[in-house]
Amino acid sequence: MSYDTGVEQTLVLLKPDAVARGLVGRVLTRFEQALLKIVAAKMVWMDADLARHHYFDLEDRFGTAVYTAMAEFMESGPVIALVLEGVEAVACTRKIVGSTYPDQAEPGTIRGDFAHMSRAYANERGIAVANLVHASGNAEEAQREIEVWFAKDEIFEYPTAAERYLR
Ligand code: ADP
Repeated sequence: MSYDTGVEQTLVLLKPDAVARGLVGRVLTRFEQALLKIVAAKMVWMDADLARHHYFDLEDRFGTAVYTAMAEFMESGPVIALVLEGVEAVACTRKIVGSTYPDQAEPGTIRGDFAHMSRAYANERGIAVANLVHASGNAEEAQREIEVWFAKDEIFEYPTAAERYLR
């Protein structure tokens, strides 16, 4: 069996609430301890253009009010963008991140352990659901989002000590 079977890359954003709350280390640890490999990383302060590129379909899916609240939230402070690599990394990362709405996210997930905001609370106040992390939803989304956030030469190939346990 080839070593590369099932190995994928996925885009993760540590949203402004994760950075401002000083949760970067603890969130990164969740991914690292699952042997997901960080192959790209940078801090970015999103502008309206990047928000539109990243969340290109959010307005269609949820309406203008939610899009506007999300853009304001994502532009409110710096984010940390990552590309994670691993076996079925897209689904695995989503599992570690947990459900979109923190009040419904299982304990043990990032959103379930570090946040509790509900969709109803956010919608009553016209604010974004602050849920700490974005993770690509599927392989196509991951490919598109990685291209939005990273140039090819910003994504690295290197061996980790842990990789020998995946052979
Ligand atoms: P996910 O980030 O889990 O893939 P979605 O792509 O459905 O979820 O939504 C994108 C982001 O928009 C969510 O992570 C959340 O921060 C925000 N969001 C989703 N629904 C709402 C809502 N009804 N009101 C405010 N913000 C929302």
